[in-house]
Amino acid sequence: RSDLKPIWCPGCGDFGVLAAIQQALVALQINPKDLAVVSGIGCSSRLPGFLQAYGLHTVHGRALPAAVGLKTARPDLTVMAVGGDGDFFSIGLGHLPHAARRDLDITVIVMDNAIYGLTKGQTSPTSPRGHVTKSTPYGQSAQPLHPLAIVLASGASFVARGFSSQPKQLAELIKAGLEHRGFAFIHVLSPCVTFYDTYKLYKELVYNLPADHDPSDLDAAMHYAVESDRLPLGIFYRRPPLESLPGPTPKPFDTQAYLNRFRV
Ligand code: SF4
Repeated sequence: RSDLKPIWCPGCGDFGVLAAIQQALVALQINPKDLAVVSGIGCSSRLPGFLQAYGLHTVHGRALPAAVGLKTARPDLTVMAVGGDGDFFSIGLGHLPHAARRDLDITVIVMDNAIYGLTKGQTSPTSPRGHVTKSTPYGQSAQPLHPLAIVLASGASFVARGFSSQPKQLAELIKAGLEHRGFAFIHVLSPCVTFYDTYKLYKELVYNLPADHDPSDLDAAMHYAVESDRLPLGIFYRRPPLESLPGPTPKPFDTQAYLNRFRV
């Protein structure tokens, strides 16, 4: 961890996420000089400052393009992109499917509190229908989007969900995401105690994916991804190794060879 103390509200779910990330990094013995954490803007996007690593606090919704550029230029680094539901599912949503289908080796952790916390409580793309806030005084009329279904449909090769109140399980999911060679997307239910306290609700709704769920079964993963009455936790999907898939295996991107083309 860095010397900076988190300035989140006491009880914010993001504390549990930070603790889980730290546990995963320690378990994998990732050296701070080999790690870069990229974020956009929002309460959760402050997270890179609280870790000892390279940190990029970019602009709203643009964590993914920055992370993709960084990983392309420095494939030797472990790259994580972190942020909230406003950042990844609203202004930054256009980047998500394309980053997922490129399948670069990036671990994405979205702390979803279904509200805009930093700007003091407006409805977000994952707020439920009927949600009353200052931006939707008559109740949210649109349906919440299903983040896991979007990334699964886009070709993400590792998709999981955790809960900030269960940091041990969350640390295991983040560890598995970091170990996965490809685009790993981890959706975290991370309540905002100040503007939309969902702890009690989530504790009633979460359950672990059945032990017989096969993470290589994309149809089954999609079935659980669109479930909204309850909230499954665990690894929804993990693509089998590329070598085992039909068709040619793409070669890894050679940054140096690419840059050499522009040398005179
Ligand atoms: Fe966390 Fe909400 Fe406070 Fe932001 S406003 S730090 S999301 S509890």
